[in-house]
Amino acid sequence: MTDPADKTTVLPAGRTGRDPDIHGAPVAEKGHDTAKAPAGHPILSVQDLRVTFDVRKRGAWPWTPPDKLHAVGGVSFDIAPGECLGVVGESGSGKSTLARAIVGTVPSSGGAIVFEGEDLALMDRTQRRHHRRDVQMIFQDPLAALNPRMTVGDIIAEPLITHRPETSRKDVKARVGELMERVGLLPNLVNRYPHEFSGGQCQRIGIARALVLSPKLLICDEPVSALDVSVQAQVVNLLAELRRDMGLSMIFIAHDLSVVKHISDRIVVMYLGRLMEQAKSRPLCTRPEHPYTQALISSVPIPDPVLEAKRQRPVLEGELPSPLSPPSGCVFRTRCPKARPDCATGLPPVIDLGDGHLVACPYHAPADVLEPA
Ligand code: ADP
Ligand code: MG
Repeated sequence: MTDPADKTTVLPAGRTGRDPDIHGAPVAEKGHDTAKAPAGHPILSVQDLRVTFDVRKRGAWPWTPPDKLHAVGGVSFDIAPGECLGVVGESGSGKSTLARAIVGTVPSSGGAIVFEGEDLALMDRTQRRHHRRDVQMIFQDPLAALNPRMTVGDIIAEPLITHRPETSRKDVKARVGELMERVGLLPNLVNRYPHEFSGGQCQRIGIARALVLSPKLLICDEPVSALDVSVQAQVVNLLAELRRDMGLSMIFIAHDLSVVKHISDRIVVMYLGRLMEQAKSRPLCTRPEHPYTQALISSVPIPDPVLEAKRQRPVLEGELPSPLSPPSGCVFRTRCPKARPDCATGLPPVIDLGDGHLVACPYHAPADVLEPA
């Protein structure tokens, strides 16, 4: 597996200097002495990615310049072939925007997205078409993502017919049948319409459609958040199985850490468009270092009342600040239990704790959190 620290701006453990220029920027550009040669080639390398939207206030004069909303503000990570990266953070932290930028449906305003060695921003039309084929996405609301006027068979076949029009009707039919079976749908339902299916089944249709072109990277944007709890585990297990069997690389986005931890090899924690912590799944969930990760884990109740009563819970107070006017310095400082006056000045350094564990907080400390099952 690629060590994420190989590609990310880092400070050695213990160094807590504040460098406003350092947050999330790739090491190659900044030339830090901690940079190591990457072990193998990542399938995807996101380097200091920034996505900014122009937002106009309602009733504003047309000639007033729009406000800038920094939905993603300098995020870096790598994904090795076959790896699953979890992305967590509250609603509004920029997870979907990150996903859409990687797919290429939202333009980035800075940094780079390098897929299989090719920079997305520098791709020509043909390369972009290949990128659209190789990187597929599944969405949170399964029913809304499916065209209500198309049959299940047509929905699954559509990307294949668009990208490989030379495929014969017989082959398309066979591929659709094979995928329906693979995702746990009876192939005789091929002529039904989406509204005839449950939420879980609609998500299976979405998964089959995303897989029809045999993508290399599958981005799952909150794929189970809209489903009943009983169905969530089935869909997560299906995705885990598919990933194993097809050797897929995956980005699994959720607002709840407990959903991503079983399927992900590594997890990135985002807040207000910025990376807070990144580590292998187990250490991130059992010994989180960043106050935000600790609060995220503690906000999920444990079903056992005795354990729940014993638990120390740093609570997340207040609302997510507006991304139009984010706090200065560390964006989490206004809700952080450990915030100090200097957190308001300069971006926090990203500290490398070893083994790919990165934390963007100079006052980080491990906490043994009692994680929910
Ligand atoms: P998440 O998926 O983590 O909930 P999003 O990526 O959807 O977060 O949104 C991050 C921020 O970017 C939010 O404040 C959202 O309002 C804003 N945003 C997303 N898409 C657009 C857009 N097309 N135009 C303006 N603002 C947007
Ligand atoms: Mg989202």
